[in-house]
Amino acid sequence: MDFPSYTPDDTAVPEGVVVLERASTPQDLGPKLNRTAADVVRFLMQQGEMVTATQSLNDDMIELFAADVGAEIRLVDPGEEQEVELLKMLEVGLLDDDEDDDDAPLRPPVITVMGHVDHGKTTLLDRIRSANVVAGEAGGITQHIGAYQTVRNDRLLTFIDTPGHEAFTAMRARGADATDIVILVVAADDGVMPQTIEALDHARAADVPIVVAVNKIDRDNADPTRVLQQLSERGLVPEAWGGDTIVVEVSALQDLGIDDLLDNLLVVADLEDLRAAPDGRSRGVVLESHLDVGRGPVATVLVQRGTLKVGDPLVAGASWGRVRALIDYQGNQVKEAGPSTPVEVLGLSDVAQAGDDFIVAPDERKASKVAETREHWQRVASHGRDAHAMSGGARLEDIFSQIQAGEAANLNLVVKADVNGSLEALTESLKKLERPEVKLSFVLRGVGGISQGDIELAAASNATIIGFNVRPDRNARELALAEGVEIRSYEIIYKALEDIENAIIGMLAPEYEEVVTGDAEVREIFRVPRIGAIAGCYVTNGVITRGSKVRFLREGTIIWKGDITSLKRFKDDAREVAAGYECGIGLSDFQDLKPGDIIETFEEREIPRT
Ligand code: GDP
Repeated sequence: MDFPSYTPDDTAVPEGVVVLERASTPQDLGPKLNRTAADVVRFLMQQGEMVTATQSLNDDMIELFAADVGAEIRLVDPGEEQEVELLKMLEVGLLDDDEDDDDAPLRPPVITVMGHVDHGKTTLLDRIRSANVVAGEAGGITQHIGAYQTVRNDRLLTFIDTPGHEAFTAMRARGADATDIVILVVAADDGVMPQTIEALDHARAADVPIVVAVNKIDRDNADPTRVLQQLSERGLVPEAWGGDTIVVEVSALQDLGIDDLLDNLLVVADLEDLRAAPDGRSRGVVLESHLDVGRGPVATVLVQRGTLKVGDPLVAGASWGRVRALIDYQGNQVKEAGPSTPVEVLGLSDVAQAGDDFIVAPDERKASKVAETREHWQRVASHGRDAHAMSGGARLEDIFSQIQAGEAANLNLVVKADVNGSLEALTESLKKLERPEVKLSFVLRGVGGISQGDIELAAASNATIIGFNVRPDRNARELALAEGVEIRSYEIIYKALEDIENAIIGMLAPEYEEVVTGDAEVREIFRVPRIGAIAGCYVTNGVITRGSKVRFLREGTIIWKGDITSLKRFKDDAREVAAGYECGIGLSDFQDLKPGDIIETFEEREIPRT
């Protein structure tokens, strides 16, 4: 076939930086670069890309053409330019840190804990949470809503409850700066490790002050001096050695040095002079968001300015609504939340994304208008991003052989996760695995269980499905088997990354497939005195066996994992119950099942590699 030839015309290079929207079509792109749509199409044909004049182009294609024209461009997400207009409609400016009023009252510092895996981030967060819950609530139930507050010397401190730099970086990638101070946890026995350095780099890039917590000083082989030495080499010179880095020795496990750490955080907060006006329309950032079966979309937000109140009309990214209820981290309903307070917000139309700004709108109509406009632009943008993902995907196992054959491998992924925060964190970290010979494309990123639709999409685009804390239902599982779609489920982000990294270097470990042995649907919950709750179930598939491993699923999301300890047919103990029969499953450890939940039993089997 003969293509009309394209000869670049270098007489007309556009001046200055041309702002181009991602996912532009040749029709939009051509004229902006002093060319016609046909020029763009012809040029791309020469590069082996067949596109039509009205088809969305991916970033590479746009950049390639611009480079050929010799134009300097800046790619923006569709809607980015419009965002300024939308904020005008909400009668606010872009969120600017310098907006802080000098005479506004002080606000609590917002703190994120980072550091290498196993150095004690979670233990430290738990220790601070349990030891210093707001007075009067000691011993009360604390919820994991993504953040919590604690008191020291009558002052509040706010902690973001997702340790690690992935979430922090994902938030920053979306333009959100929620954190005022980073605690860098370094285990005294292990010293500075790769993720310590990564965390340090991220905190520095964000220009956030760092307080070092040297943890596990209770250990016999603790060597805090070595840690200080290693940190100094990285430019974090401790105060004791004449530098300006605050270093506190702690044992999260044995509750040593925690108050000292909190005191030092307050010192840094004072130096930073963190202030925010408690009045005026509130705004802030979404920390976490998910769909709750009973309550609808739930977002945990961090209030950064003003006071958020029940009844406020609100926009959060592309979702909106009137605040129906506010719930603090202790599970109490509250009427309002001031600066630096984390609260759960009920009443939004949709699941917002972690890192989205929220703003109280002048009225509901404006809130919905802004959210709808954003949603429109997000759709356009994601269409462009994924436009190219459909072609030439490879299965995880085949990646290495493709690379070896000298082909550039394209790994298409469908990523599903239980909540938005983990979805963001996972995709952000996955993106970092990209290298010249392996391109990762996200065909779909979504929150919720793995559906038949996901399998169909994965089959059509040759994608591997990565599930994080979510599972396929039976229909989806069967379809995946029939279509040969690979589903990999993880409960730890780092494991997912490890697998993909290993696939790239051809060292994919033997896969332990979790073979589902039975499914039962919960029909009713009985409370039996002294025994607790029993789920009355109907076995829909396979066999449910006492002692087998089990997962409880609600709308495809894993809500609990454990073993089946008691299984009954009517009043009698049963060893196994087959499909088509009813049974009672004892819930000793997990009492929170509801009718409609699915109980799935499984076995682990090694899949031989070919
Ligand atoms: P993370 O991965 O950084 O969140 O680390 P974890 O908080 O899960 O802690 C990893 C392991 O280190 C767990 O077994 C903890 O019990 C242990 N650990 C945490 N803090 C301390 C400490 O201060 N002293 C000792 N001896 N062990 C600790």
